[in-house]
Amino acid sequence: MGPSVDLVTSSVHFPTQAEVVVIGGGIVGVATALALVKQGVSTVLLEKGTVAAEQSSRNWGWCRRTGRDIRELPLINASMRLWESMNHTTGRETGFRRQGIIYSSRSEEQRERHLRWIAEAKHYDINSQMLSRSQLADRVPGLTSDFAGALFTEADGRAEPQKATPAMAMAAMDAGLNLQQHCAVRSIERSAGRVSQVITEHGAISCQSVVVAGGAWSRLLLQGCGVEIPQLKVLSTVLRTRPLEADISSCVSLGSVAIRKRLDGGWTVASAASNVVDITPDSLRFMRQFMPAFKVERRSLQLRLGQRFIEEALCWKPGQADKVSIYERIRILDPAPDRSALGQMVVDLRKALPVFDNLQVAQSWAGLIDTLPDAIPVISGVGSVSGLFVATGFSGHGFGIAPAAGQLMADLVQGREPIVDAAPFRFSRFTDGELIRAQHWL
Ligand SMILES: Cc1cc2nc3c(=O)[nH]c(=O)nc-3n(C[C@H](O)[C@H](O)[C@H](O)COP(=O)(O)OP(=O)(O)OC[C@H]3O[C@@H](n4cnc5c(N)ncnc54)[C@H](O)[C@@H]3O)c2cc1C
Repeated sequence: MGPSVDLVTSSVHFPTQAEVVVIGGGIVGVATALALVKQGVSTVLLEKGTVAAEQSSRNWGWCRRTGRDIRELPLINASMRLWESMNHTTGRETGFRRQGIIYSSRSEEQRERHLRWIAEAKHYDINSQMLSRSQLADRVPGLTSDFAGALFTEADGRAEPQKATPAMAMAAMDAGLNLQQHCAVRSIERSAGRVSQVITEHGAISCQSVVVAGGAWSRLLLQGCGVEIPQLKVLSTVLRTRPLEADISSCVSLGSVAIRKRLDGGWTVASAASNVVDITPDSLRFMRQFMPAFKVERRSLQLRLGQRFIEEALCWKPGQADKVSIYERIRILDPAPDRSALGQMVVDLRKALPVFDNLQVAQSWAGLIDTLPDAIPVISGVGSVSGLFVATGFSGHGFGIAPAAGQLMADLVQGREPIVDAAPFRFSRFTDGELIRAQHWL
């Protein structure tokens, strides 16, 4: 089971029309809806399960500029500004704190790469620095492993995934959002070439625009409109500990294991080095597009052929207006954690930081990360269907960037001056001849 998430109560009245329907109550859909209602746009947010029950509550909670793809830097800078005032904006606790993020450099080659990123990031007013061995030891007392240094961004932060998205959803409702949970969208309908309504399990909603922010489900939702996006899923495992005292305030990645102090006094512990890729029909379909990224990341990815192939081949079909859909059958995507990754994380953490010798695991879970071949999101209109917009493919780092991604999506839907240049995130990059490549800095 996933972590327990702050509950949000749905709106009482089921709407029959809205200017904009947003599909997906993860942080991206919620941030989009929040930005829209703040601009006075009548908006409905539809979630098949409950707010933030999938990736948006299962993540590490890091809000980081550190080591990001250069194309995302203007957007993450805008997002960090929004995070700074998020408790005030929502009138609630989101857990955002500016506590710094550290990525250790495990080799000279990695240290060089971190230095190159620091130089690039300076052009975007990001003042990251390279910590020496002794500076790293000061910030992470008791560290036994020997690193070549570490990439550090003091102005980076963290928030609480089980609180932030619900807080933002409640703030959006205060500003007029109609939220419907346990309300799966079966299909998006068109008339005269443009979006006209969405069909949910509880009835139809007429609208002028639809934003698909369905995380791991976006590919299927778009497929239902005849639109193809090359999206795959990666399983990542996390645990949280019971409260434990350790004098480390920043979020720290030690290569095989990463830690963040939680507001409840425990720690969120995860591994960036062992993610599982289940082979599915889509893996075969999109193998060519993902091969360059896979080659670079292969040491941290474990390919697995099992039940998921059959499940997706037989059951993951686009919805139909008059039939119970896969979205209703799987209200919350709750994959089993990878047991071997869990054991390894604990061993690695105890070895690197003996202060964690007595750690007690309170809970573990996994999430399915939605990825694109260049590991940056699509935040864009879909040229072939007027009124259809997509915000998806955040490739394992969408939590921190979501507040500005939602603002950007809202700007595009309304045809306003965008918060940042939206060109890097256009959907058409997969078909207009751009060389699709992920950047690997960390
Ligand atoms: C283990 C893990 C660690 C991570 N760590 C970090 C981190 O430290 N920092 C960071 O920035 N990012 C991190 N990420 C990534 C981040 O969590 C995601 O990029 C982000 O949460 C994506 O948000 P989303 O709203 O796009 O998707 P989701 O949170 O997955 O939400 C999509 C929602 O759409 C709903 N939906 C889908 N189909 C339908 C339908 N037909 N009808 C109605 N609703 C539908 C789903 O039920 C779901 O709730 C991590 C992810 C994981 C899994």
